[in-house]
Amino acid sequence: MTFTTRFAPSPTGRLHVGNIRTALHNWMLARKNGGRFLLRIDDTDAERSREEYVEAIRTDLSWLGIDIDGEERQSQRFEVYERAFEALRESGRIYACYETAQELELKRKIQLGRGLPPIYDRAALAMSDDDRAAKEAEGIAPHWRFKLDHAEPIVWEDGVRGPQKFDPAQLSDPVIRRADGSWLYMLPSAVDDCDMGVTNVLRGEDHVSNTAVQIQMFTALIAALYPAQQIPHFAHEALLVGSEGKLSKRLGSLGCDAFRERGIEPEAIVALLARLGTSQPVEPIADRQVLIDTFDLSTFGRAPARFDDAELERLNTALVHHMDFDRIAHRLPEGIDEAGWHAIRPNLAHIDEAAEWWRIVTGPINQPAFPDEDRDYLSLAAQTLSWGDDPWHALTAALKEATGRKGKPLFLPLRQALTGMDHGPDMGELLPLIGEQRARERLEAAAAQ
Ligand code: GLU
Repeated sequence: MTFTTRFAPSPTGRLHVGNIRTALHNWMLARKNGGRFLLRIDDTDAERSREEYVEAIRTDLSWLGIDIDGEERQSQRFEVYERAFEALRESGRIYACYETAQELELKRKIQLGRGLPPIYDRAALAMSDDDRAAKEAEGIAPHWRFKLDHAEPIVWEDGVRGPQKFDPAQLSDPVIRRADGSWLYMLPSAVDDCDMGVTNVLRGEDHVSNTAVQIQMFTALIAALYPAQQIPHFAHEALLVGSEGKLSKRLGSLGCDAFRERGIEPEAIVALLARLGTSQPVEPIADRQVLIDTFDLSTFGRAPARFDDAELERLNTALVHHMDFDRIAHRLPEGIDEAGWHAIRPNLAHIDEAAEWWRIVTGPINQPAFPDEDRDYLSLAAQTLSWGDDPWHALTAALKEATGRKGKPLFLPLRQALTGMDHGPDMGELLPLIGEQRARERLEAAAAQ
C-alpha cells in the first residue's frame, strides 16, 4: 500500500495556525515516506460549508508551499457513504433510534444526577418491529447509531501518545446519520480513509476518542467492503496554545491572511510549525527538505505546543536576511538589483521594508541640520569623494587622514548626509548603490545648508 496521509478541513472558516500545523505535518509525513498527501474537504455540513472557504484553503496551502497529490470532497461522495451504510446495517452494526433531542437530554440529566457517565443506554436496540412501525406511523423518521462492540477493549499504538486503550462500554454508540439523512463526521471520514487507501492519520488530540470509535468502524468496513485496506496508523499531536498558555481565541483566528499582511514569509511559518512541540530546535531553516528529512513523530511531546508570535518574527527576520534575490525579485521595488538586495536585506525584518531602504538610495532624502564644523567637514567630503571599487572606504580613509576625525564624528555626519538617517545598511554596500552623482549632490547639499 502506498503511504498516504490526508488533511481533512471543514470549509466552515479560514485555516488557522492550528490546522495549518496539522496540514504541514501530514504533508511532511507523506513527503518523508515518499507517499501521497491528499486534501479532503469535509463538507458534509451543507449549511456551514462555504465555497469561498474551499478556495481559501487551496490558496493558503499553495502559498505555504504545501502541494497536494489529490483532492476529494465529501459532498460528492454521498453514494459511497450510502453503500457503506447499507453494508454496516446489513451486518448489524447500524441501528435506528427515535429519541428526540429533548428525550436524550433528559436521559443524560438523569444519569448525571445519579453520578453515572452520560452514555447512551441503547434503548432503541430493545425496540420491536412494531415499536418502530408505530414511531414511523407517527411520522418520526429515525436517526442512526453505530453499534460499538463491547467484547474487547479498543487498543492502538499511537505515533505520539504510545499505547492507547479504551473500554468501548464507556463510550456512547455514536450517531452517524441524522433523521433528515445528512451525515455526521464519524462514518464518512472512516469510509473515505478506507476508500482512499489512507495509511496514516495524524491529527489533534481532540480526536483521540473519535479514533477509538473509528477503529471499530474501520474493522467493520474492512470486513464488509474493503478487504485490502488496513486500519491506519494513528498519531495524535498535542494541541497548540498561545504564548499565554491557553487555547486563545486569537490563535483560532490567526491565519495565512493575517501572516501575509504582517509580512511573515511562508518559510517562517513552516520552519516554526514543523518543529514546535517537538524536542528538535526551532531554527530558521529555509530548506524544506531538511525539515522533511528530520521530521520525526517520536520527537513530539505530550505537552501543549506553545505558539509564540515573537519567535515567528525572529525566524522571519533570520530567513529574510538569507533570502535569495531570485526568489523575491518580483516583490522588490523597480530598479533594485542583486547587489542592492544584498546591501539592504540585513536591515529587514520583513521584505516589504526594502522599499523604504530603496527610497534612501534613489532619494529624495531628508537631511538633518548640521552644525558649522560638520558642514565644513561634509564640504571636504564632497571634494574628496572619488569613485573606485570601494568608494566608502576610500572616502573615510582619506577624511580620517585629512581631519584626524575617527569613530562617530568621522562616520555619522557622512551617513546622515548621504542617507538622512542615523542607522542603516552598511555604507560600504550602500554607497555604490547611491552612485557617485547622487552622493556628491547630497554631500554638497548638506555642506551648503
Ligand atoms: N474535518 C475534521 C476536522 O477538521 C477532520 C478530522 C480528521 O482528521 O479526521 O476536525
